[in-house]
Amino acid sequence: MAQTTLDNITKVFTEDDGNEIVAVDGVSIDIDDGEFLVLVGPSGCGKSTTLRMIAGLESISSGDIRLGDRVINDVPAKNRDIAMVFQSYALYPHMTVRENMSFGLEESTDMADDEIARRVEETAEMMGIADLLDRKPGELSGGQQQRVALGRAIVRDPSVFLMDEPLSNLDAKLRAEMRTELQRLQEELDTTTVYVTHDQTEAMTMGDRVAILDDGRLQQVGTPLECYHRPANRFVAGFVGEPSMNFVETTLRDEPGGAVLEADSFDYPIADEIAAELPESSNPVLGIRPEDIEISEGAPSGEHEIAATIDVIEPMGDENIVYLQFGDDSSVRGKSIIATIDGMRRFESGQTVTVHVPESAIHLFDGASGEALH
Ligand code: ATP
Repeated sequence: MAQTTLDNITKVFTEDDGNEIVAVDGVSIDIDDGEFLVLVGPSGCGKSTTLRMIAGLESISSGDIRLGDRVINDVPAKNRDIAMVFQSYALYPHMTVRENMSFGLEESTDMADDEIARRVEETAEMMGIADLLDRKPGELSGGQQQRVALGRAIVRDPSVFLMDEPLSNLDAKLRAEMRTELQRLQEELDTTTVYVTHDQTEAMTMGDRVAILDDGRLQQVGTPLECYHRPANRFVAGFVGEPSMNFVETTLRDEPGGAVLEADSFDYPIADEIAAELPESSNPVLGIRPEDIEISEGAPSGEHEIAATIDVIEPMGDENIVYLQFGDDSSVRGKSIIATIDGMRRFESGQTVTVHVPESAIHLFDGASGEALH
């Protein structure tokens, strides 16, 4: 068992007209033995290409992939001791479940037939598909096919599992069930797993760590809580969390009473220690998570309290999503700020309220580069 290392890997595709696409741009990640790492990012950010390079299904333009100390760039896919699970399941339609599961072991190992049969039975039992072994994929539901695809990967007992959006063809309820089951299985098997998804909720709930990609570049790798509480930049801050973090453009001003962030429709005083982290006369972007905003009735009386008007309320059951407008001039409607509050609390649209944004909850990003400043 060993660490899997991506060392500055890059993939450049050349299109027919000679145009070059940098799909993956200098990505470096050390994946620990037994770790569940989720690669996440918006469509086209290079997740699948990264996974396919680890699998050996795509060549690497530059950089190294290592399993332990061994560089595996040129090792053919079938010799990498890696099993991949695809979104499409990729089961052989003419083979039974049993044949689909045993095929890989028959082809790539010299394991005895009775040992293969024993392993297939055992894995099928673990995956709850033992009674489906003699059926063909066409006779199975989507969820059952998904289990077979996972079972086929597990039965090979590889060093690494690679999974490319394996749950995206399942309905919401089944997907939630399979998430939990996959996590349980991964813990039980303790096999290094790299899991690709574009769904930030899936990433945040499943991964030991998440690696967040945008436009081929690694933005941050860390535990879900690290990425949530200490996002490296504005992209990560906006990608992690639902509803997304609010961003407000500000100008830093030194006033007699202390430093203030001046936004279009409100001023937000900040402590000297925070101001000291910001470049002088800069334009930091203030980041506020919807769940950190407190709303109360009455007029503002304390620091970090701002008058606001409730624009729209969306009841979601356990919580309400509240769209807030700041400032007196209702003819100049800026982008609403979104807050989430307890579903039991009753406010009305048009109501004037006081919004409290605790200073301990704010994030600040460089207005130009987007890098986190605080
Ligand atoms: P999705 O979530 O939509 O599957 P992704 O994050 O997995 O996206 P990739 O499939 O890795 O993204 O694609 C990354 C970039 O590389 C995209 O711009 C894509 O168009 C491009 N790309 C991928 N494969 C090829 C190819 N074979 N030839 C040319 N460009 C490619």
